[in-house]
Amino acid sequence: MLLFEERRAVTQYAQQLLSSGLVQGTSGNISVANANKTLVAITPSGVAYEDMVPEDVVVVGMQGMHIDGRLLPSSELKFHLALIKQRPDIFAVVHTHSENATAMACLRWELPPIHYLIGYAGMTVPLAPYATFGSQALTDGICQTIGDGNAVLLANHGMVAVGPTLKSAFNTAQMVEYVARLYLLTKSVGDPVLLSPEEMKAVLEKFPTYGAQPTRDQS
Ligand code: 13P
Ligand code: ZN
Repeated sequence: MLLFEERRAVTQYAQQLLSSGLVQGTSGNISVANANKTLVAITPSGVAYEDMVPEDVVVVGMQGMHIDGRLLPSSELKFHLALIKQRPDIFAVVHTHSENATAMACLRWELPPIHYLIGYAGMTVPLAPYATFGSQALTDGICQTIGDGNAVLLANHGMVAVGPTLKSAFNTAQMVEYVARLYLLTKSVGDPVLLSPEEMKAVLEKFPTYGAQPTRDQS
């Protein structure tokens, strides 16, 4: 099967989207590009994640032409392709309607640095303007808002996380949801203290080596 590994990974992460509570029903979508960015594997539109198998994942070219798979691609194909094309470091896109990030987006608030784990997304998580799902205006708003960060809130809709791998984009989506939850919790009783740009810069410098363990052979 064309792009079997990528299609299997999309299926696995799509099921994790559901099991980790980042989406409800068939909302959200996931894509990953092949190594030379000529093809993209993306979830089909409106299909239940529980039953999804690699054959259901759609393969498209970089201009959106259908290459393989018997289903229609996600209605958000446009912004997935635009993000993958926009930055050389983006190979994977995860779109969720996770509750707390979406609540922030419904308030039309961006997410400030109240906890260092926001660093997976950037210094803040900015807010893209509202536009109808699947529209070119939504794609334009996301692409103009994301800058060099790894996540964007979508006004009255949800959030998008990107990364060099599906694992990193998924992890960022989870972190944004976690920090959004902390933000709303703290806002319900007071005003959270923000980390300064210097404090966030120190975090971003440490992230690349976080969790780097010696291999078993070396230890
Ligand atoms: P799809 O099922 O077409 O991917 O759409 C879900 C969604 O979240 C639209 O924004
Ligand atoms: Zn959506």
